[in-house]
Amino acid sequence: MVSIPCFFIDKCCFEKTMTYETVFNQKRECAVPKKIIQKLNEITSNNVSTKEVDRVSYSKDYMPITLRWILDGKLPALPDCIVWPENTTQVSEILKIANNEKIPVIPYGDGSGVLGGSIPVQGGMILDLKKMDKVIEIDDSSLLATVQTGINGMNFERYLNQHSYTMGHIPQSLYCSSLGGWIACKAAGQFSTKYGKIEDILVALEAVLPDGSVIRSKKVPRSSTGPSVERLFLGSEGQFGIVTEATFKIWPYPEKQILESYVFSELSDALESVRNIMRKNVYPAVIRVYDKNETLRHFYDTPNVKDKVMLILLMEGDEKLVELEDNISSYICKSKGAKSCGEKPVKHWLETRFNVRESSDFTPKGFVFDTVEVSVSWKYALEFYNKMIESMREIKGVVVASAHSSHFYPQGVCFYFTFGGVPPKNVEPFNFYQSVWDNMMKTCIDQHGSISHHHGIGLIRSKWLSKEMGDRFNLLKKIKHAIDPNNIMNPGKMGINNEYQ
Ligand SMILES: Cc1cc2nc3c(=O)[nH]c(=O)nc-3n(C[C@H](O)[C@H](O)[C@H](O)COP(=O)(O)OP(=O)(O)OC[C@H]3O[C@@H](n4cnc5c(N)ncnc54)[C@H](O)[C@@H]3O)c2cc1C
Repeated sequence: MVSIPCFFIDKCCFEKTMTYETVFNQKRECAVPKKIIQKLNEITSNNVSTKEVDRVSYSKDYMPITLRWILDGKLPALPDCIVWPENTTQVSEILKIANNEKIPVIPYGDGSGVLGGSIPVQGGMILDLKKMDKVIEIDDSSLLATVQTGINGMNFERYLNQHSYTMGHIPQSLYCSSLGGWIACKAAGQFSTKYGKIEDILVALEAVLPDGSVIRSKKVPRSSTGPSVERLFLGSEGQFGIVTEATFKIWPYPEKQILESYVFSELSDALESVRNIMRKNVYPAVIRVYDKNETLRHFYDTPNVKDKVMLILLMEGDEKLVELEDNISSYICKSKGAKSCGEKPVKHWLETRFNVRESSDFTPKGFVFDTVEVSVSWKYALEFYNKMIESMREIKGVVVASAHSSHFYPQGVCFYFTFGGVPPKNVEPFNFYQSVWDNMMKTCIDQHGSISHHHGIGLIRSKWLSKEMGDRFNLLKKIKHAIDPNNIMNPGKMGINNEYQ
């Protein structure tokens, strides 16, 4: 049991205390010895906190069930301390100490991960990168930007826009995620069909390994110089070290945008149209297909959308190219019986796309929900969608089971499912939540899908990663052991060592 200030209840009453349980690690006094805290303070010019209020603030990320826990008086886990380094040298010194003392280190960007990836399940040190937020270089002739990875996504994109560029990576969490988090979770932005996912945009990086050594890759467009070992950090979720700097592709700000939308009678027709657009090598920046439930939920004020499937397209770039993309897409959609709904639904999406307030509205009312993004090749796509919807509905208490597709390839598609419901009487919210996840993950693997398209593994998916990876999982464990023999980096995640299973 934990005694902490009750600032969740009343921001002003720090003198009051309440009793909480922790779900993962038992609360104790800061387990990092005072002399180590002192050393960390010396390295970072006193940017270290062991205050209870800070430790509580870093006890969770955006994993939706953690909000339920907190409302029920449970904290996911408590770190021992939080450290805010300002540069790579400081990160290196900190990791040397943590490695010698075998203190867990949890890299922390903006804490918007939705799988529990930055929850300190074994206590230890949160290494928050927010002070590492400098733009280091914009190279206009090569269209490259080099930054410290703690920079917030929106701050960076705004900086680029002010200088007439875009990075083209606009996740829904733009305002609440960092560039380091994007690399570590292998993120995908809403404009990804044109600009690519983070792995297509990342050109080079600098990272600090658990022993404090620093690796850097070259800012060149491509090399044939053996395996790109630094690419291990893409999707590494803090397992191998800290990404401290990165170089990304940037683009001149697009001169023209065209917005267009279509409704179809069936999901199959909408998906088939997008597949054909992709086969023509046409890449609108944004392509989104909403199933019938989500069409009604999101586009309720567009006439005649009941029982229809909405497709929205946003094309941007050179004016002539964009017009051509629009003509080709329009021809393909109309030949599948689609009716144009014009710009309005796309404008509505643009205005509301960062709005996620439903989660805060419904969770206090007892509603348990989550979103699950997965990918599958075109060959299996429709059957996959139907089976996944069924897998959610099979769990008693589920009342919402829907999806949209937000990322497309000539080879396949990402489905983004949403489930929500109220746990039946006598079923713990977490058990209900876990049952839906388990059913979906099993179905996904059985139906030829990949269990995550862009959110990553964290805690919730950790027990499924070995099934997803097969024999590759043993290789991953060997690599982890070679880089981090003391298992200090973000322990207890991804099913690597001390699995949460
Ligand atoms: C409302 C909402 C919308 C979202 N929309 C999208 C979306 O459109 N696309 C998408 O891809 N994701 C989305 N996400 C998920 C999340 O924003 C991403 O996973 C994001 O990449 C996490 O970045 P962060 O800085 O918040 O990372 P954190 O949550 O702080 O950390 C995530 C993981 O990365 C590790 N990590 C963080 N920084 C570093 C670093 N510098 N070096 C090494 N490891 C590090 C952490 O240890 C942890 O394991 C969304 C989340 C929310 C809450």
